[in-house]
Amino acid sequence: MNKLILPAVQKNVSLASMNTMGLPAKASEFVELQSEDELISLHKNGFFEKQKPFVLGGGSNVLFKHEISKTVLKVSLKGIDIVKVDENSVLVKIGAGENWHRFVEWAVNHGYGGVENLALIPGTVGAAPIQNIGAYGVELKEVFEKLICFDLKTGSFHQFTNQECKFGYRDSIFKKELEGHVIITSVTLRLTKKNHLLNTSYRSLKDLLKEKNIEKPTIRDIFNAVVAIRRSKLPDPKNLGNAGSFFKNPVLSKKSFERLLKNFSEVPHYPVDEENVKIPAGWLIEQAGWKGKRVGNVGTYENQALVIVNHGGATGDEVYRHALKVQQSVQEKFGIQLVPEVNIVE
Ligand SMILES: Cc1cc2nc3c(=O)[nH]c(=O)nc-3n(C[C@H](O)[C@H](O)[C@H](O)COP(=O)(O)OP(=O)(O)OC[C@H]3O[C@@H](n4cnc5c(N)ncnc54)[C@H](O)[C@@H]3O)c2cc1C
Repeated sequence: MNKLILPAVQKNVSLASMNTMGLPAKASEFVELQSEDELISLHKNGFFEKQKPFVLGGGSNVLFKHEISKTVLKVSLKGIDIVKVDENSVLVKIGAGENWHRFVEWAVNHGYGGVENLALIPGTVGAAPIQNIGAYGVELKEVFEKLICFDLKTGSFHQFTNQECKFGYRDSIFKKELEGHVIITSVTLRLTKKNHLLNTSYRSLKDLLKEKNIEKPTIRDIFNAVVAIRRSKLPDPKNLGNAGSFFKNPVLSKKSFERLLKNFSEVPHYPVDEENVKIPAGWLIEQAGWKGKRVGNVGTYENQALVIVNHGGATGDEVYRHALKVQQSVQEKFGIQLVPEVNIVE
């Protein structure tokens, strides 16, 4: 029988440096996972029978409301491997604990296209499918081939194809029926080697490329432009704690949208499909008077009302209460219920 390779279980570990909001939560138990064998050993040892852990990646999409009474299992599985090459594309398998942006840099440096618009999104590769990360007109699902995850109950590994992940706008099966049941251990993406499908449809991206007189952008041009735009618009969590967009952009039916237009004719909107329209949550929050507003240690970012920031010393509960007030104001003014994009951890 193989020897069990059990990772160390640490007690009372501060998570302050492991969440981009900079919240002071502690984990009563903390385990860092560095290999799949450790996962198998934990299962064989009955670890998951006693409890379901909280799975942590880079902590860039979580709000720790209080101390965490569950064991926090930080996924640090590494590795970037090209598993298949054909004339036009490569299949790349990436360990769930790899840093997403560093992987995007790796792809651009190798001349592989498909993820350049997703540059500078914080967090890990393993968390990227959870909410089908997206930015500047591109979503992960467009390059996603498959993933491998570990089932905490059965102790076995399963493969999920693109279709099986049920990707939606900031959504997937892992935020619904599989939430808390699996740990993603690797993700395989299909990237282009040539004939890249460049996406410059996003307004600010198009404008910046024009300003720089770039008519035929390369994947590196797009990567550089996205990095520059993001640096100018979003607060760096190293300087100002935040978790990116706090709420999702609401999607309204055409009927509800027409009703909204009667009172707010200037509301910005984007078609989703024939039936639905997306409204920028940042605009709604700004109109409700929250842009740049600070209450105690928490505020709404001065350049982007969709980002809630920790000005220093905020607790998770304080951030949560601030978010509730923002949500309530938008509900009262527009009759629209904002849904958090950030995962609230009780
Ligand atoms: C400044 C800033 C900008 C951002 N911009 C964007 C953006 O443009 N687009 C976008 O989509 N997002 C954006 N985000 C949100 C965030 O970066 C992404 O959601 C990212 O994928 C989260 O990765 P993470 O490793 O930090 O996940 P975490 O915050 O650690 O976890 C998020 C959720 O995924 C679960 N999870 C994490 N890893 C695993 C795993 N291996 N297996 C199973 N479950 C797991 C956790 O339990 C949790 O529920 C931004 C955040 C910040 C701070």
